[in-house]
Amino acid sequence: MRDPRYDVLFEPVRIGPVTARNRFFQVPHCNGMGYRDPSAQAAMRRVKAEGGWAVVCTEQVEIHPTSDITPFIELRLWDDADIPALARISEQIHVGGALAGIELAHNGMNSPNLYSREVPLGPAHLPVATWTYDPVQARAMTRADIADLRRWHRAAVGRALTAGFDLVYVYAGHALGGLHHFLSRRYNDRTDEYGGSLENRVRLLREILTDTREAVDGRAAVACRITIDELIGEPGITAAETHDIVGMLAELPDLWDFVLGSWEDDSVTSRFGPEAGQEQYVSGLKRLTTKPVVGVGRFTSPDTMVRQIRAGILDLIGAARPSIADPFLPRKIETGDLAGIRECIGCNICVSDDFTSSPIRCTQNPSMGEEFRRGWHPERIAPRRTDARVLVAGAGPAGLEAARALGQRGYQVVLAEARRELGGRVARESALPGLHAWHRVVEYREQQLRRMPNVTTYLQSPIDADDVIEYGFEHVVVATGARWRADGVGRWHTSPLPVPDGAPQILTPDDLMAGQRPDGEQVVVFDDDHYYLGGVLAELLGASGYRVRLVTPAAHVSAWTANTLELVRIRQRVLKSGVQVDLNRVLTGLGPAGVITSCVFTGEQQEVGTDAVVMVTARLPIDALGAELDARKPEWAGAGLRSVRVIGDAWAPATIAAAVWSGRRYAEELDEPQAPVSVPFRREVTALAPDLP
Ligand code: ADP
Ligand code: SF4
Repeated sequence: MRDPRYDVLFEPVRIGPVTARNRFFQVPHCNGMGYRDPSAQAAMRRVKAEGGWAVVCTEQVEIHPTSDITPFIELRLWDDADIPALARISEQIHVGGALAGIELAHNGMNSPNLYSREVPLGPAHLPVATWTYDPVQARAMTRADIADLRRWHRAAVGRALTAGFDLVYVYAGHALGGLHHFLSRRYNDRTDEYGGSLENRVRLLREILTDTREAVDGRAAVACRITIDELIGEPGITAAETHDIVGMLAELPDLWDFVLGSWEDDSVTSRFGPEAGQEQYVSGLKRLTTKPVVGVGRFTSPDTMVRQIRAGILDLIGAARPSIADPFLPRKIETGDLAGIRECIGCNICVSDDFTSSPIRCTQNPSMGEEFRRGWHPERIAPRRTDARVLVAGAGPAGLEAARALGQRGYQVVLAEARRELGGRVARESALPGLHAWHRVVEYREQQLRRMPNVTTYLQSPIDADDVIEYGFEHVVVATGARWRADGVGRWHTSPLPVPDGAPQILTPDDLMAGQRPDGEQVVVFDDDHYYLGGVLAELLGASGYRVRLVTPAAHVSAWTANTLELVRIRQRVLKSGVQVDLNRVLTGLGPAGVITSCVFTGEQQEVGTDAVVMVTARLPIDALGAELDARKPEWAGAGLRSVRVIGDAWAPATIAAAVWSGRRYAEELDEPQAPVSVPFRREVTALAPDLP
């Protein structure tokens, strides 16, 4: 059972008229499901409540059509028609035994209103503050607009109560909640009673908090979510100002929820920020109020959590990502199963789904987002239907998860790995600068496999088709991964680059991860992959003293990491490593003394001297085992072999998250009857209006 050291985490906390059963608080977080997938969201939140979180919140909920943040998919509470979806979410959170929180939001200048076509509203006449540079301006709100906003917010509070929520947020954080724009000198240039002095800039927040208190009338708690420091110095909200704001409004909300800077700062990845990284900013705020305080910090260690409470920094341990990676984190601490915690690796794949308007997924927790769609659960899986024995070849993220989940189902499993260590690409990539936390993907699964007497793991055991035919397994899973190409083929070049005599040395990411280094001093990294690896390898080589030039056809280094909130920090780090960055250029040829790069727009060519080139372009599946077994199908029956399935990167190279998911899918579906449907998951389809105008 639980270690008494952690008892403090299980003390109830009073939040105004309601009581949290412990100190674990799932703060609002986006999930890419929102109004499109309400039942999927309801099931996802219920699982977290079941996992022991005392409070489970929605993401930001748009309160009005002037707060439409299309193309992002969040929840909406525009009118009564939206209540049933919200009611289902709160009901499911209650089924799990938690309090249901709702983050009401008017996004102000962060809403381009592309769907509603309403004119955005803000404190000033300024372009909307969106990630997508929408060619739209917000209009400075008049007093009448402010009165409207207050009315809309009150109406939304009423609807939130009808929908059954216990805790209602007023959102002034991340430069996403519109109240943030009023607080910040960066956006608020007003000369009326809502601008100028701090007292004036706080006025609207005070009014909305007061309205909300009145509207809930003791039936729900009121939370205020506010940015501690915009991290841009004097033009923005500073920590000193936030101290003053909290001093002014200290007892008005029932709960303070502190966030740091913009979303990029608040949800910093493990590559750029440690656990509890916000401590220095949150410290001291609790002294300004008697009301409970919640904050985040990618908390996964119970000792760190206890320290936050004992040191008087937080009252409630806030978590978005740790609750995504392990919805049962509180229960595991409560039952003393610390080794069973699936720790968040801080990769922000979960965040990327919000940016791509796709349902949330998680590298560590393949069931995230699949609770309703496929009926998956983070801790439970159906028992095996047969006594079949399964051989899993390859212990990368796909093979490890397949073996773990098959083992949990009760199958007899052999996991055979060619190398000396488990983890495949994760073992190698986590040794690169800043990616150490990613090794948790391996550690969690290794730990689980150790507990399973029905799973046997063999290292240094490359499997070939003869082995499979000889050993007599009923099912074989080929999870043998992929290798990086050296021929330049990727998005730009779809056929190999010619390599003339005397061309510079060509290396792949696999070569570098295996410890090989360029001959000579100069190296070109050609990144046509656009996720993290090109940037990481440039950083690695730059920090090792090479003269590095990163060439990419994209307009940014590691362009896709805009979706993981890392774009700016990656660029900063690459530049600090002394790397020269050539954007919008493509490597078009190899010559005796270097390479030729061309402008992607004009084709203008440049010769670049270099000793070596690292091709970060694309991968090829290592699927020979699957292909050979397929060719030997006539021998299967004699060997007792019934199925061979290729999964993960060996089937089609993708993210680590996709590899883990494919392992889970294999295990979920083995021996299960497959319904004859074309869509292999549950979804909700928009209800048609009864008639057309
Ligand atoms: P994925 O991301 O799909 O899990 P990885 O490349 O991370 O793929 O992992 C594949 C693993 O499979 C690697 O650890 C590799 O050493 C191992 N492997 C490759 N071929 C074989 C084989 N024939 N038998 C056993 N293990 C193999
Ligand atoms: Fe953590 Fe990555 Fe999962 Fe997000 S996707 S919760 S950052 S492990």
